[in-house]
Amino acid sequence: MKFSKSFIPTLKEVPSEAVIPSHILMIRAGLVRQLSAGIYTWLPLGYRVVRKITEIIREEMNAIGGQEFHFPALNPKEIWEQTGRVEAFGDTLFHVKNRDYVLAPTHEEIVAWHAQGALTSYKDLPQIWYQIQTKFRNEPRPRSGVIRGRQFLMKDSYTLDRTFEDLDIAYDKHDKAYRKIFDRSGLKYFIVGASSGAMGGSKSEEFMVKSDAGEDTVAYCGKCGYAANVEVAQSVSVNAARDNESKQLFEIPTPDVKSIDELCAFLKIDEHETAKSRVYMHDDKPVLVLMLGNDEVNESKLGPALGGNVRPCHPEELKEISGADAGSIGPIGFKYRIIADNLLEGANNLYSGANKNDYHLGGIDMKRDVPNIEYFDLRTVESGEKCVRCGSTLEVFKAIELGHIFKLGTKYSVALGVNYLDENGKEHPVVMGSYGIGVERIFACYLEQNYDEKGIIWKKPLAPFDIHLIGLNMKNSLIDETSNKIYEELQKEGYEVLFDDRNDVSAGVKFNDADLIGMPVQIVIGEKNLKDGRVEIKLRAKNEKQIVELPQLNNKLKELI
Ligand code: ATP
Ligand code: MG
Repeated sequence: MKFSKSFIPTLKEVPSEAVIPSHILMIRAGLVRQLSAGIYTWLPLGYRVVRKITEIIREEMNAIGGQEFHFPALNPKEIWEQTGRVEAFGDTLFHVKNRDYVLAPTHEEIVAWHAQGALTSYKDLPQIWYQIQTKFRNEPRPRSGVIRGRQFLMKDSYTLDRTFEDLDIAYDKHDKAYRKIFDRSGLKYFIVGASSGAMGGSKSEEFMVKSDAGEDTVAYCGKCGYAANVEVAQSVSVNAARDNESKQLFEIPTPDVKSIDELCAFLKIDEHETAKSRVYMHDDKPVLVLMLGNDEVNESKLGPALGGNVRPCHPEELKEISGADAGSIGPIGFKYRIIADNLLEGANNLYSGANKNDYHLGGIDMKRDVPNIEYFDLRTVESGEKCVRCGSTLEVFKAIELGHIFKLGTKYSVALGVNYLDENGKEHPVVMGSYGIGVERIFACYLEQNYDEKGIIWKKPLAPFDIHLIGLNMKNSLIDETSNKIYEELQKEGYEVLFDDRNDVSAGVKFNDADLIGMPVQIVIGEKNLKDGRVEIKLRAKNEKQIVELPQLNNKLKELI
């Protein structure tokens, strides 16, 4: 492709709308433009990368027996109502005004609709159906560029099986295909076991990339690969110390002391000698939740621990329940259920609120003074704690989800009547799996992991072009002739070449653009080298230059690419 005839609007300045590296680079290198919040146009250079990503996905999906479909994005709302997902998606679902249509955010319903009455015998199963298609989600806060779009490309596949054992096989195939797709895309990723949210399934795994731009926080062990969302992650618990001797309970006036930090400063004690109280309503009954020191209650763990409906108490409810306001509440004399984090089990000589404003109690012995308490894992794992699996050190960081694999089970087949007859003529619901990959997220995550101060560093599989050929002074007829000849020859050899043939920009602009756009290999045709029958090759990743005799150019490239 000739630069002079292409639309590659590179920018020198960092665009004001972009914050994270991948978004900045996509805009600066002329790969993408925003049309409206969360809605993007792929420009020609960026779209070449999108096509390379989708081709890798296609090859790996075909390799596990996937059949490519193209389901419509515009869906009759009626089908979505049958699974209860118009409600489940809520405001995220785009509705088409004046008509009963929705814009599909995913395609379980439509797959089940087509399977119903079409896959009727055990002989019709298993099936793997997939598509690479545009999805619509009215994301409340679209940000981080294409990582969270309102319109985006997803590879979504669906498996249809007779039994849960067969589903295990289909799920495993996807697990392997996903690893190949992300490996081939040149990404460093890890895998997290997860809960399956609005999809309504059982087992699921997320493929994730470490990134400050991520919206999930995960705990990860570099040694054994243990990885979990902090909503559920665990670490080896180190209980609060138990002194040999338990003191008697004693009351201390603590005027204006509201927080654990203030209590520690006032009494000159360590936060591990304190227990913090939070009061929740559990199915309309109060529950006191005790945490060690400054540990916050992890509500994602509290909900499942208690079951039913759980919400924090309103400040105006607290006084009536406990006799005190927040900051002075504690376990002694609390009249309702009390639960605590595991770390407090067996602790003594603790300080906590006295259920009387401006007073605290000391000398609390959990065994002696709070005998009917129940213990649960209720805290959030922090960096530096020990891995539950191998004892090594955990790191807590932000991460982006690249893809997700789910064992759906029969939720959609039951809702939409997708049944098959077994060998004995007995009817069963088809067992489904669902698997998604964000195409734009592969793109953005690749950039997050492959750039330097000059721009993008592409490697072969995703690079828009293999070679960036630069004719330095195109007004010089020898350079013009030679670079055009090399351009033709390289293409005949099968290379994809971007040829900077512009004759109205300086060498500096050309070099900067080449480094910004970041093709793996640059070939520079300049006057000085050409006089001696030579050209310069630069490897973008290593910033390494070498001079090559023209007749050797082809061999050299074979060696490098
Ligand atoms: P997230 O938690 O990031 O919103 P999700 O759980 O809603 O993701 P899925 O419904 O599992 O995502 O969709 C499958 C894949 O589609 C995700 O793993 C992700 O790569 C991609 N994806 C989801 N939402 C978006 C979006 N708004 N923009 C771009 N890609 C997306
Ligand atoms: Mg989402």
